[in-house]
Amino acid sequence: MSCPEGARLKAPPQFSHSLLTRRGFSRTMPEETKSIMNRRISLKTSILLGSSFLALAASARAQQDFSKVEIKATQVSKNIYMLEGAGGNIGVSAGPEGILIVDDQFAPLAPKIEAALKQLNPGKLKFVLNTHHHGDHTGGNPHFGREAHIIAHTNVRKRLRKGPGESQPGLPIITFDDSLSVHFNGEEIKMLHVGPGHTDGDSIVHFTGANVLHMGDSFFSGRFPNIDLAGGGDVRGFIRNVEEGLKKIPADAKIIPGHGPLSTLKEMREFHAMLVETSGVVEKAVAAGKTLDQIQAEGLPEKWKGWAAPMINASRWLEILYRGLTRK
Ligand SMILES: [Zn+2]
Ligand SMILES: [Zn+2]
Repeated sequence: MSCPEGARLKAPPQFSHSLLTRRGFSRTMPEETKSIMNRRISLKTSILLGSSFLALAASARAQQDFSKVEIKATQVSKNIYMLEGAGGNIGVSAGPEGILIVDDQFAPLAPKIEAALKQLNPGKLKFVLNTHHHGDHTGGNPHFGREAHIIAHTNVRKRLRKGPGESQPGLPIITFDDSLSVHFNGEEIKMLHVGPGHTDGDSIVHFTGANVLHMGDSFFSGRFPNIDLAGGGDVRGFIRNVEEGLKKIPADAKIIPGHGPLSTLKEMREFHAMLVETSGVVEKAVAAGKTLDQIQAEGLPEKWKGWAAPMINASRWLEILYRGLTRK
């Protein structure tokens, strides 16, 4: 277990536009993508992924050394921050009423995250909002759930629950089906469930006063996303959710993606264009009777080369698209 002293906090005092420029792949690899690669290597031929994958992903995580991970804080607006460490980005509201966080990364990072939060605000952590059930977004739940109320879509609780009974630590204790608002630190913080996309329990979180959104894994900024087909995800639904977001999100909003740097609508439009074009490539190939192997051998147009992350490379992304688009 890492000690809190190991955490180093870099919190710029002002929001800077330079933060919005696209950066390369961050030094920390999204854990989700790492586990997906494991899955690909070991279960390449299987269509649906079962418990063996989960066990594999869990052991990959167990082996990962979190001691070197630093939690970096970026100020997004007056009292909203984004924390980056390993796993999904964390959104933070820190103000006179205390702290609310959106997602909480991996369990071993909880003490570092806690130390980072203390540097932002001395108040108590009151709420944890989970954008979906994946472990790189909910691993800290058992730790933070001791003092905070955890809120998530109904399916997040269902998927995190390991068996019957109500006593499992870290489960969301407040669930909702469509939307829910937390009135906190002087603004309405709205959670909105979006229909099957990355999983079947995705929410986006809108800090309505600050004009900041946390998109969860409905948005990977500047890189190919994961779509968890075994976890209720859906390729066309995923694209639709991004489209809906583009229509509704205010033009000057700051957007915290599930993975990748702090963004704006510009990066989300680029993400949408990538989704539409690359899914089009696969749809065309499927219509021409091509197999997954052939599609992967042909690859994607050169322009999307920079979107490959180490674990979701073009080949893996084509596989997700192929399986999602050909699923009956
Ligand atoms: Zn994630
Ligand atoms: Zn995810």
